[in-house]
Amino acid sequence: MRRAIVLGALIVVGGLSLATAAFQAPQPPAGPTPAGLAATRIEKVKDNLYIITGSTPVPRDAFSGGNTAVFITDTGVVVVDTKLAGWGQVILDRIKTVTDKPVITIINTHTHGDHTGSNEAFGTNVESVVQENTKANMEKMDAFKGDKAKFLPKKTYKDKMTVLAGKEPIDLYYFGPGHTNGDTFVVFRSLRTMHAGDMFPWKDAPFIDRNNGGSGVQWPKSLDKVLKNVKGVDTVIGGHQPVATWKDLGTFQQYTADLLAQTEAAIKAGKSVDDAIASLNLTKYTGFESTRLKAAVQAIYDESGKK
Ligand SMILES: [Zn+2]
Repeated sequence: MRRAIVLGALIVVGGLSLATAAFQAPQPPAGPTPAGLAATRIEKVKDNLYIITGSTPVPRDAFSGGNTAVFITDTGVVVVDTKLAGWGQVILDRIKTVTDKPVITIINTHTHGDHTGSNEAFGTNVESVVQENTKANMEKMDAFKGDKAKFLPKKTYKDKMTVLAGKEPIDLYYFGPGHTNGDTFVVFRSLRTMHAGDMFPWKDAPFIDRNNGGSGVQWPKSLDKVLKNVKGVDTVIGGHQPVATWKDLGTFQQYTADLLAQTEAAIKAGKSVDDAIASLNLTKYTGFESTRLKAAVQAIYDESGKK
């Protein structure tokens, strides 16, 4: 009896990709749940810019994917990030409550499935744009293979690109690796607002996705370039947190720089990962959690070639 149960469990685990099971948090149910629908609201940020919420990863059944931005222009709607697979119709339904205009452009801040999962709901006629490394990362995803390759982004850029010329331009910037190697900062110039995706995810240590070219060593440098080069922004939409300010982004940059400096000092001192974590002092960052510290420190150790 007992043996049968163990075998059954093994078969279930075997059905998943073991690599996926090992590296990712438990997956939420595919598509909308009642808790997810309740959490996934459309809220005004400023004038003609909204976000669609539901971006808090815990609890998983109330999670629909990263914050989606909805920008309503004269010619149509621009959507930034498309949440998890199965949420496309909900995104469209939420947009319909604020405008009748069609979606004309989608932008993905980066490759992850909670930011690109519902691209296909917008069809193949929309304009779709990502940073060039993100397109290469998306091409490796099962969700964009075979028949689904037609939903890959059509347009890419390397360092900077402006979409929707005219009085409501959107500037896309890439400043180097961090969360992945293709993170776009989307600036709605007319509204002084930026979507920073998962380069500004939450008040906790960042998730450094080294499998997609992410870097804990480069992260603070890339954010520093944002702070120095992007002008005229006061409001910042992060990947998985409430709408924040330019100052909050500055605080997060300092946090990533401090985390890196203290971890590098621990590496230099020959400390183990556990001892490094015990020695960290980040208490000046009020309101920050530490649930993701261990993974971040480990990623920086791995990146430095240290165990
Ligand atoms: Zn991400």
